[in-house]
Amino acid sequence: MQNWVNRSLQLCAWRGKDCCNTLKLTVFQMTHQFPSLSPEQKKELADIAQRIVAPGKGILAADESTGTMGKRLQKINVENNEENRRCFRDLLFSTDASISKCVGGVIFFHETLYQKSDSGKLFPQVIKDKGIVVGIKVDKGTAGLNGTDGETTTQGLDGLSERCAQYKKDGCDFAKWRCVLKISDGCPSALAIAENANVLARYASICQQNGLVPIVEPEILPDGDHDLQRCQYVTEKVLAAVYKALSDHHVYLEGTLLKPNMVTAGHSCTTKYTPQQVAMATVTALRRTVPAAVPGICFLSGGQSEEEASLNLNAINQVPLHRPWKLTFSYGRALQASALAAWQGKAANKAAAQKAFCDRAEINGLASKGEYKPTGSADSSSMQSLYTASYVY
Ligand code: 13P
Repeated sequence: MQNWVNRSLQLCAWRGKDCCNTLKLTVFQMTHQFPSLSPEQKKELADIAQRIVAPGKGILAADESTGTMGKRLQKINVENNEENRRCFRDLLFSTDASISKCVGGVIFFHETLYQKSDSGKLFPQVIKDKGIVVGIKVDKGTAGLNGTDGETTTQGLDGLSERCAQYKKDGCDFAKWRCVLKISDGCPSALAIAENANVLARYASICQQNGLVPIVEPEILPDGDHDLQRCQYVTEKVLAAVYKALSDHHVYLEGTLLKPNMVTAGHSCTTKYTPQQVAMATVTALRRTVPAAVPGICFLSGGQSEEEASLNLNAINQVPLHRPWKLTFSYGRALQASALAAWQGKAANKAAAQKAFCDRAEINGLASKGEYKPTGSADSSSMQSLYTASYVY
């Protein structure tokens, strides 16, 4: 290659300066690869990603910000203070070690990473002792994109590398960054798609340099009355832009995980679709856009009821199309709702709440293998919609 460049430049020199400049431009605009991650760094990242999405495992997203946690606690009349937030997380994290059969990773919020369990152990250690991988939310929430119809980008790149390095020292092996897009007549705009794809790729690149597997989350909100086909079309456009940006930023795909929305109709759409229809639309969109090098796709639940999120995941894993990645869960609301309802802020309810959490995690573990067989006895709380308009995490 270098010889070819030298010879061509020599040839140009004989022909005149203009030709030479044109050729130089062409040559230097071609893609070049400079080393970014060592083979050891790549292996570490790929191994972490594979552990998180090992067969039958998914992710517990317990990284609600203080404000979001407040809304959850308010529903059960529990005050939003540090101790109550710790108590609820303690309940989840101190569940029997058998939970590691179906939970491969837990995403923490900054505050929780430095809190301790009732037994006095730091939470990340409690999780690691069960053989589960510790993750951390590293974005700093959304900010408006001026001149758009209320669209946003996600903040948090400043100082991100230093924060990632510290989190790695403090026991984290993966990270999460949530971008948000919405569907309406004019949304998502080309600007919102491009900006969010780029910021996700920049975040992913910084995480990998610091030994953290980035979960790339371009969430398309379920707000609106659009049908399934429109959500599929938008999901394909958004994911195609995200994978172009990840390639542009030289992100090592084997050391990443994707956290997308499932392809569903808008919350106010009057047509209702079966889990099989949702599954086919979702897998079709993913097959068209997500490279096979990505080890796992971990869906967010996005306001679906617990049971709906499990049934849809199960159907996704039964679609009769080749699926080169693990398709599993990274649920927040759809893994915690029954546990919260059972807890009610009372120590006496801890065991019942842990059972509710375990049951849900087990169902989703089965669904991640397409093996969930509903008995028809799902209790009413697991069927309740967990939708909130313009959801903030
Ligand atoms: P939900 O499953 O509640 O949608 O949240 C998952 C999450 O981590 C969003 O960033």
